[in-house]
Amino acid sequence: MDIIDLSVYLIPLIIIMFFYLGSRKKKETSATEQMKEAITQGLTEPSSLHPVIDPRLCLGSGSCIKACPEGAIGMIKGKAVLINPTHCIGHGACAASCPHDAITLVFGTEKRGMDIPQVDPNFETNVKGLFIAGELGGMGLIRKSASQGSQAMDSIAKLKGSNNDYDVIIVGAGPAGMGAALGAIQHKLRYLVIEQESSLGGAIFQYPRNKVAMTAPVKLPVVGEMHFKEVSKERLLEWWLGIIEKTGIKLNYNERMENVTPTDNGFIVKTSKEEYKTRAVLLAIGRRGTPRKLGVPGEELPKVVYRLIDPEQYRNMHVIVVGGGDSAVEAAMAVAEEQGTNVSLLARGDEFGKAFGGAKPKNRDKLKAMSEAGKLKIYLKSGVKEINQDTAVIKFGDEEAEIKNDGIIVCAGGTLPTPFLKQIGVMVDTKFGTT
Ligand SMILES: Cc1cc2nc3c(=O)[nH]c(=O)nc-3n(C[C@H](O)[C@H](O)[C@H](O)COP(=O)(O)OP(=O)(O)OC[C@H]3O[C@@H](n4cnc5c(N)ncnc54)[C@H](O)[C@@H]3O)c2cc1C
Repeated sequence: MDIIDLSVYLIPLIIIMFFYLGSRKKKETSATEQMKEAITQGLTEPSSLHPVIDPRLCLGSGSCIKACPEGAIGMIKGKAVLINPTHCIGHGACAASCPHDAITLVFGTEKRGMDIPQVDPNFETNVKGLFIAGELGGMGLIRKSASQGSQAMDSIAKLKGSNNDYDVIIVGAGPAGMGAALGAIQHKLRYLVIEQESSLGGAIFQYPRNKVAMTAPVKLPVVGEMHFKEVSKERLLEWWLGIIEKTGIKLNYNERMENVTPTDNGFIVKTSKEEYKTRAVLLAIGRRGTPRKLGVPGEELPKVVYRLIDPEQYRNMHVIVVGGGDSAVEAAMAVAEEQGTNVSLLARGDEFGKAFGGAKPKNRDKLKAMSEAGKLKIYLKSGVKEINQDTAVIKFGDEEAEIKNDGIIVCAGGTLPTPFLKQIGVMVDTKFGTT
C-alpha cells in the first residue's frame, strides 16, 4: 500500500479522532467545572441511594452518563465520576447500564450517615403490625414506592382480625400510600389514608412545575397498569386524582399523624384531628418530614405554604418569607426576581450574620446585594404575629406592623421521621456508604 492509499484511510480517521477528542475534552472540562461548583456550594452529599464508581473497573464507556437523566455523573480523566451528588435521586439506572459492574449503589457516605429502618421482606418492622413502604424504607422512586405500598397490603391482609375500628391506617398519600390504598381496596380491608398536605402526590406534588418524571410501567391493584415512562408532574397528579375519583379511595387531607401507640391488639394512631384504633399501621411518609408551623392565628389560610414550588405564581404579589436558612433565602431571592413582587424576608437573628448564619456564603452574599439594591426587604429579630386574608401583622424588634400580603412561605425547618421511628421502637441502622 503506497502513501496515497494509506492517506485515504488515515485522513478521515485523523479527522474523526480530532473531533472525538475535542468533544470529549469539552465534556470533561464541563464535568470538572460542575464538580468544582458542587464542592464550592457544599452540595457534596447525595440525599439517598447513590452510585459509588470503582475507577479500577470503570473503562469509561459513558453508558452510566447517558443513563442518568439528572446529569449527576460526568466523565473526568476517562472515568465516570459522581459530579453532582445532590442531583442523584437514586433510581440506579447507572448501575444497571454499566457493562463492567463498576458501580455499586450505597446509602449514606463516610461523612453523612443515612438512617434506614429495619424492615423484613413483608415490609414489617420489628414492631409487630407496624409496616413501612416507599422512600422511608430506603428505596425511593415512584414506581418502586407504589408497588411496595400495594405489596405491604398483601402482608397486612394476612394478619388475624381484631376488634379495632380499622384493619390499617395508611399514613401518607405519596406513591407508596396510594399504592397501599389500592391494595387495601383489593383486599377489602377497613382502611383510611391520612395526609398532612392539602394534596396527594407526596414528593411529586413538590416537584418544580412541568418537571418530567422518569418512571416505568407498574401494575397496581384494582386499576391495572400505571403506564407512564416519562410524564409531567401535572399529568401524573391528574392521573392519581382520576384514580381517586374512580375508586373512591378514603383519604383525609390536612390531617397529620402525630403519634402511634401500641395497644394489646393493634395501635392507636393519634392525628392532628382524631384518634384511630387500628390493627396495623403502614408508614408511607417518605423522608422529607413534617414542616415546622408558625402556630399563629390565620395560618390555616391557603396562602400559607411551607415550600416554594413555583416562583412565577407570585408575580405582582406581596410575599412574606419566614426563615434564615438556605431554603428561606433561596425562596425569597427567587420570588424577588419575579416581575412586580414585593418580598419581605423575616428572620429571628438580631443581626445579618446571625440571622442568616445557617445559609451558604454564596446565598448570603447574593441576599445582601439584593437587599442593598432594594429588591427585597429584610426584617431582623422578626416574626409573623397574625395572618389575615389580605394582610399580615409582623413583629420586628419592639415594633409591629400590618403589611399587605398575598402569600407566605414558611421555611422554618421541620421534624424528620427518624427520631419518631426510634421513639416508637423501630430499629434503625445508620449506613455510611454501604449497601
Ligand atoms: C426533585 C425530585 C425529583 C424526583 N424525580 C423522580 C423521577 O423522575 N422518577 C422517580 O421515579 N422518582 C423521582 N423522585 C423520587 C420520588 O418522588 C420519591 O421516591 C417518591 O415520591 C417516594 O414516595 P413515598 O410515597 O415513599 O414518599 P413521598 O412521595 O415523600 O410521600 C410521603 C407523603 O407522606 C406525607 N406525610 C409525611 N409525614 C406525615 C405525617 N406525619 N402525617 C401525615 N402525612 C405525612 C407527606 O406529606 C407526603 O405526602 C424525585 C424526587 C425529588 C425530590
